Amino acid sequence: MKAFIIIFTCCFIAYVIVFGFVSRNTSIAEAWKLPIQTNDRQNWSTVLKDPDAHFKALRAEFGPVKLHYHTGVDIRNKSYDIPGEPVYPIAAGKVIAIEDSPPQRRIVVEHLLPNREKIWSVYIHIIDEQVNVGDAIDTETVMARLMNIAELEIYGQDYHHVHLEIMKKLPPYAAEFYQQKTFTCFTKHEVDEYYFDPELFLKEHFQQK
Ligand SMILES: [Zn+2]
Repeated sequence: MKAFIIIFTCCFIAYVIVFGFVSRNTSIAEAWKLPIQTNDRQNWSTVLKDPDAHFKALRAEFGPVKLHYHTGVDIRNKSYDIPGEPVYPIAAGKVIAIEDSPPQRRIVVEHLLPNREKIWSVYIHIIDEQVNVGDAIDTETVMARLMNIAELEIYGQDYHHVHLEIMKKLPPYAAEFYQQKTFTCFTKHEVDEYYFDPELFLKEHFQQK
């Protein structure tokens, strides 16, 4: 009986150690994919990049926002381009913020890299989110969707894409960032300090399959 208890206890401890190790590692961002369901989510040529919506494009003054640089890239599905299609995270991670109202509604996901550093991806102009703050998600999780035809008529046809950002670090006023607006960059230096070029980043990481 004593031997049985010892064996059972050892098996239980081994299970806890192994399960703990596996569960810690499931949230590490290793495979990277496009945030929309194209023919091949690891092939950048399957997306349609909107004209003048590339990374670091100079954006005109718009309402209260002054002349600034585009901190992300606006992409659509080249093959289907169906309004209202699902939006997925680009890698495994955790939802840390869902903020603002349409058409600027956004989800922020925190990613833990294999080297234990963190980066963040941001998805803007999404609607009808299927996740909550704190959720652990992976590349197959439907987080939300793009606007459908009726919603585009309300908010404007220009919002037919997902604006994707990949952040190197959070802005100095991170708490406000979660609750209010995205970080607006007025110099190219600021863009380089806080953001990766999503196209270059994903192209580089697609190869690490
Ligand atoms: Zn954009």
